[in-house]
Amino acid sequence: MDRQFVEKQKKRILRRLTRYKRKIQEDPDSLYAQHKEKRIITNLEIAFKQIQKGEYGLCIDCGDEIDIKRLEQVPGAIRCLECQENEEKNATRTRS
Ligand SMILES: [Zn+2]
Repeated sequence: MDRQFVEKQKKRILRRLTRYKRKIQEDPDSLYAQHKEKRIITNLEIAFKQIQKGEYGLCIDCGDEIDIKRLEQVPGAIRCLECQENEEKNATRTRS
């Protein structure tokens, strides 16, 4: 993984973490938003730890490299598309 790219992603992740944490504080009554935002924060924190370990861009489920375009769009992406879809399917199933 390109070091400059990772450095850039690190800054984006930190900015997002600050923004989402602030949002939760500003809107503590919206449970739905909180749930969604906490999930995003969790992912961003995992991605940040991956950067520190030098494992940024690897899917936490299958270990494959995550598409760079996906990382550009979602700096806190911790799963490849395939695993992300599986994860979302499971989440829907548990909810219903
Ligand atoms: Zn995967």
